[in-house]
Amino acid sequence: IVQLVDVHKSFGTVEVLKGISLDVRKGEVICIIGPSGSGKSTLIRCINALVPVTSGTIRVEGIEVADPKLDKLALRRKVGMVFQQYNLFPHKTALQNVMMAPIHVLGQDRREVEERARALMRKVRLAGKEDSYPGELSGGQQQRVAIARSLAMRPDVMLFDEVTAALDPETVKEVLVTIRELAEDGMTCLLVTHEMNFARDVADHIYFTDRGVIVEHGPPSTFFTAAQDERTRRFLSQVL
Ligand code: ATP
Ligand code: MG
Repeated sequence: IVQLVDVHKSFGTVEVLKGISLDVRKGEVICIIGPSGSGKSTLIRCINALVPVTSGTIRVEGIEVADPKLDKLALRRKVGMVFQQYNLFPHKTALQNVMMAPIHVLGQDRREVEERARALMRKVRLAGKEDSYPGELSGGQQQRVAIARSLAMRPDVMLFDEVTAALDPETVKEVLVTIRELAEDGMTCLLVTHEMNFARDVADHIYFTDRGVIVEHGPPSTFFTAAQDERTRRFLSQVL
């Protein structure tokens, strides 16, 4: 469903991604881990065409992301993205935030969108908070509204970039539960995360990146216990 082949990305003279290849199949949960500055966010942003690649190919459900004639709206319908900063509209209620894109971007029927938005609010365990404004919600609740907002576009794959990094420890868990439930429902997920327990429990495959390359990857069962590369081992010894 997502395929990257030899993706390179430079900012000016600095090469941030140095030939990344990876595959995400339908229903899989893939975690990307690695030190700060290794290019994880850049990678995620390339997949969603927020950042143009320098060379290589990215395909999402048959869409060629690096194509200059890329239909960004078609891509955005397939790819949902949630960031560390939830960026909700502060003057709109939670429900209105979830409803906005389907109505204004896709032009869908308001009543149907509302029904679905309410279902999504229940799904992220925020029933009863529909009429709250973002400022009245905790960080974890706001992040779950952001997830519901992405899901409202019915994406085929969800990208998460350190969505729990800015949250209090108590609220991290509720967001991870939401993502885990999504994964259990069969949503294809690509996550950048520092939550190693989550990666171990939920991921089908883990990629470790360092300085723009994939140093090592594998299923959690081997990744955490039998890392071959020195850099991976050092990283794991620091975070586990
Ligand atoms: P972190 O764990 O801290 O979020 P990361 O792995 O997500 O790190 P990136 O944000 O992808 O790392 O950044 C990788 C490198 O690319 C960094 O050195 C960063 O300074 C550089 N970089 C990222 N975006 C830009 C940009 N728009 N212009 C120039 N350099 C950039
Ligand atoms: Mg990042």
